[in-house]
Amino acid sequence: MKRGFLNSSKAHSKMASVGRPDVHQVLPGVPEGYKTPKVNIKEGDPTIDPKTLPQGAFLFTSLPNIPLDEHDPDNWTSCLLQVATKAQIVDTPGFPRPLLHPPKPRYHIGPTPNMGLAAFSSCALKMGDLILSERALLIAPAHLFAEDNFPEDFTDAQLHQAVFAQAEARLQVAYDRMLPENQKAYMALANSHLQDGSGPILGVMRTNGVNAAPLTRPGDPPMPYSATCKEISRLNHSCSPNTAAEFDMPSFSFRLFAIRDIAAGEELTYTYTDTSASAAVRQKILEPYGFRCTCRACLDPRLSDARRASIHRASPTPALMSMWAEEGLQASPLYGQHAVTLMERYIGAGDLENAMVYARMCSKMKWFGCGAEDWADPAKIKADPQWRKDVK
Ligand SMILES: [Zn+2]
Repeated sequence: MKRGFLNSSKAHSKMASVGRPDVHQVLPGVPEGYKTPKVNIKEGDPTIDPKTLPQGAFLFTSLPNIPLDEHDPDNWTSCLLQVATKAQIVDTPGFPRPLLHPPKPRYHIGPTPNMGLAAFSSCALKMGDLILSERALLIAPAHLFAEDNFPEDFTDAQLHQAVFAQAEARLQVAYDRMLPENQKAYMALANSHLQDGSGPILGVMRTNGVNAAPLTRPGDPPMPYSATCKEISRLNHSCSPNTAAEFDMPSFSFRLFAIRDIAAGEELTYTYTDTSASAAVRQKILEPYGFRCTCRACLDPRLSDARRASIHRASPTPALMSMWAEEGLQASPLYGQHAVTLMERYIGAGDLENAMVYARMCSKMKWFGCGAEDWADPAKIKADPQWRKDVK
């Protein structure tokens, strides 16, 4: 029985303006005369052989790797990746696997009174149900980095703007490689960074980027990637969300799951923040998105903060699992770990009935990258090497 499944991903969302952005028109803070370095590494550029590039070099690429003007029924992603990252992706067993879709549409996009467009369930959903699968429009490094030495006389503000300009110039190359309909979908997403010097492509990425953590190889220096999605990026935030996403490497896609039962017509939400933090810290993290969270936990922070703090400190018990669920924290990897711990405890005690309760729960927790195998099988429970090992 495999239990090291807690490989969670995180995410995000919103608005509109279509058309090709021009970096130099929208970044007035860049010092006069400053030119961003030329971005010239592109896959398919006959003057560059990607194999000769250092592993840490960046590459513009499409994944799955198909001609840029061709359509794929599951779409493809315009990427800016390190050479080593791409090698890891294409070497994944089964890559590129087709996407796994729900049997019929389980969500729709619609308006909200004050949060723009949002996603809603189209039918009643059960915990663990797949809501949608999609390949991102764009995947690029989440962290901004400078490509050259800036003049000594740049002020901090000018440095800041120059780094933004470089990021925008790089993203422009990736954006230009997208199909026109994907460019349109990308620019139709919200941008809450209109006033801070971010270019339009960077602003949309910073507003809507979903954490693509699985792309960072274990042991490598941290290079977080951000994925901007057409559908998942539409989800609004909640500190007690009802969905979570998992990145599936073989299909190179995000899968969005119901993390609890959801009623038909209910708004689908995702968390953009650290749900274990206090309400005040969460609001600070959410500030760049340009809204103030008014979820249940944020409206009653005194009670919710105390409850969240004690939940995170406590050892797993069935009662504690109910408290996690009541607080809406099923997306937390700790919740998943507790479910595994309880299952193991009951396996050791030879308590099949209770072991099955948590085995069933673990099988549904597909947002942690598990659930591919059905653990909720009495034969498997009894065949576990720890079965009845702790019977006193
Ligand atoms: Zn909240």
